[in-house]
Amino acid sequence: MTRGNAPAPRPGILDISPYVGGEASAPGFDRPIRLASNESALGPSAKAIAAYRALAGEIHRYPDGGAEALRAALGRFHGLDPRRIVCGAGSDELIALLLRAYVGQGDEVLYSRHGFLMYAIGAKAVGATPVAAPERALTADVDALLARVGRKTRVVFLANPNNPTGTYLGKAELERLYRGLPSSVLLVIDAAYAEFAAPLDYDPGARLVERAENVVMLRTFSKIYALAGLRLGWAYCPPAVADVLDRVRGPFNVNAAAEAAGVAAVEDVEALQRARAHNDRWLPWFSQRILSLGLELSPSVANFVLARFPEEEGRNAGAAFLHLQSRGILVRKVKAYGLPSHLRITIGTGEEMEKVAAALGEFLAR
Ligand SMILES: *Cc1c(COP(=O)(O)O)cnc(C)c1O
Repeated sequence: MTRGNAPAPRPGILDISPYVGGEASAPGFDRPIRLASNESALGPSAKAIAAYRALAGEIHRYPDGGAEALRAALGRFHGLDPRRIVCGAGSDELIALLLRAYVGQGDEVLYSRHGFLMYAIGAKAVGATPVAAPERALTADVDALLARVGRKTRVVFLANPNNPTGTYLGKAELERLYRGLPSSVLLVIDAAYAEFAAPLDYDPGARLVERAENVVMLRTFSKIYALAGLRLGWAYCPPAVADVLDRVRGPFNVNAAAEAAGVAAVEDVEALQRARAHNDRWLPWFSQRILSLGLELSPSVANFVLARFPEEEGRNAGAAFLHLQSRGILVRKVKAYGLPSHLRITIGTGEEMEKVAAALGEFLAR
C-alpha cells in the first residue's frame, strides 16, 4: 500500500533492475564448480593471503586513507605516476564515483550494447539516460559509438576487453574513438581483464591517459589477482580527474586488508605470470572444445568464453544452464546483457574445464 508522503527516491532510481551476480550455489553440491564470475582459476597469490592474515592484529586502526603504499606499488610495477592513481572499493565504486562527479539529471552516458551492466545501472542511479550503441559481431563499434555522441553526452564507457563478450578493440580503434570525442566528454576505459589480453595490438590505455585530459583507465584486483572478496580497484587519471575523485570518495574507501593484500599481490609477479600462463593454455583448449561441439563462440581475449546455443527448446542456453547446474557446474546467464541465447563460462582449473566440456558434450548429444 502506498501512502501519499512516503520518502521517494530521486528520478531514475526505480528504473534500475538491480545487478544480479553470478550463481554461487547448486542444490545438492557442497562445493560446486564456480565458473560464473570470472575470478582467476588459480586463486590469489599466497603472499597476498599471508599479508591479509598478518593484518588481523591491526584491524582496530583506520586504514591508510590515501592508499599510499598501494599506489606506490602500482606505480613501480606498471611504470605509472602514483599521483594519478585513485583506489576504490572495486572498480565498481570508481564507476559510481565518476558518474556522481561528472554526470547529472538529464545527461547521457554512452556505452556499447553488450557492455558491462554497471554502466547503465550507474547512469540511472544519477538520473542520467544510458544510451547503448549497437555492436558489430559482438564487438564495440567505434563509428556507432561516435554517431551517438551528442550535446548531452558526458561519459563514454568502454570495457576493453569487454565482459561478457570477451572481444576487444585494438590500439588504433581506441585511438580513433578518443580522437572522435569532444574533449569535454570523459572516455572511461575499463580494462578489468587487461592482464589476460595477449594480442599485440591490445593496449590497456595508460599512455592515452597520460596525454589526454579526458581519458580514465580502470583496473581491478577482482579478476586475475582473484581478490574479488576484498573489493579493490584503481583508476589511472589525468591530474584534474584524480583530484575530483579524491574529493568525492569516502576518506577510507579502501579497507586496510584490501590494501595489504593488494600490495603483496602486485609484488608477486610470479603468481601473476602463472595465472596468465594458465589462461593462455586453457582458453584456447576450451574454446576448441566448444567449437568442436558445434557451438558458436565469440573470440575471447579474456578469462572466459561466450558460447551461443541453439534456439530449440531443450537445447537452448537456459536448458544448458540447468543441465550444467544439475552436474554441480555454475556458469553465467547473460540475458540481462541482451544475449538470451548465450552463456558465459569462466576459465577455471584444467580439471574444471575438462568437466564442463564433458558435461556440455553430454548435453548436446541428448
Ligand atoms: C568484474 C568487472 C568489473 C568489476 O570489478 P570490481 O573491481 O570487482 O568492482 C568492472 N568492469 C568489468 C568489465 C568487469 O567485468
